[in-house]
Amino acid sequence: MFDLIKRLTDSFGVSGNEEGIREAIINEIKNDIQVINVDALGNLFAIKRGKGKKIMVAAHMDEIGVMATYIDENGFIRFSNVGGVSQFVSVGQKVRFKNGTIGAVFYEDKLEDMKSLKLSKMYIDIGAKDKKEAEKSVRIGDVACFVGDAVRQGNMVISKAIDDRSGCAVLIKAIKDLPETDNEIYFVFTVQEELGLRGAKTAAYQLNPDFAIALDVTATGDTPEANLMEVKCGNGPAIKIKDRSVICHPEVKKLLEESANRINVPYQFEVLEFGGSDPGAIHISGGGIPTGAISIPCRYLHSPVEAASLQDIENAAKLLVEAIK
Ligand SMILES: [Zn+2]
Repeated sequence: MFDLIKRLTDSFGVSGNEEGIREAIINEIKNDIQVINVDALGNLFAIKRGKGKKIMVAAHMDEIGVMATYIDENGFIRFSNVGGVSQFVSVGQKVRFKNGTIGAVFYEDKLEDMKSLKLSKMYIDIGAKDKKEAEKSVRIGDVACFVGDAVRQGNMVISKAIDDRSGCAVLIKAIKDLPETDNEIYFVFTVQEELGLRGAKTAAYQLNPDFAIALDVTATGDTPEANLMEVKCGNGPAIKIKDRSVICHPEVKKLLEESANRINVPYQFEVLEFGGSDPGAIHISGGGIPTGAISIPCRYLHSPVEAASLQDIENAAKLLVEAIK
């Protein structure tokens, strides 16, 4: 599982620029699934045909990043966020543009105190001697992801983009491990979740499934002075009750809970008081779709050091397979 996650998190896929990660996922599954499609927005569909229930399983393949907005005469690049990027988390990091150009992220010396730090007072230094040289590598509108190579430490994986490449890894594992079933299953790797659940919205509308299950990360309450939250890393995948975008359907929640009990996978319940996720768009698509979610507990969300338990990710895959077979 670690090697798969490493391959996925190494791939480039800032929201709206998912070609790299989409190719990487197709490479992982092309011998294991009957049909692979890509829609107009870039969502990737891996389809297992059948006459039973029509099920949508979704994980977003995009990751947060930054976009070049202005290059000054000295070649320093101003930028804005693509998705939820914190100025405090970005300071001192490296970013990588699609063409491989690496930049250092730092802030103006004149800043009086750290509290007034804003992305607009920060810049990316790609080591260019002036604007002209910088423009040979980076153009306005180019996007970059954070650099945060995946490492394994005991049972934890630490990397950028665990949100939501860990969910993509769960779908890939489920595609490979799925036993004979009559259900028609659409494994959807969605685009632009980090910009407001955009890909999931059009994917769910096209499919109009009987029900849907999404896989994504969730915050935890197990770090020093964390906000109060029941979810802990290593205590098993979480069955989502709600976040700010959705209240999960009771029947799907029940299906997930019964499935976990049947195969003895440890689980916890997730009530996330901030943030939304793909189920928020899926459940209000068309005439409404019963939707639930399996969440992978993850510390330090939207940073280059997102940390999750490999055991939780493995168990999320087992739980998903049991629920959809
Ligand atoms: Zn996510």
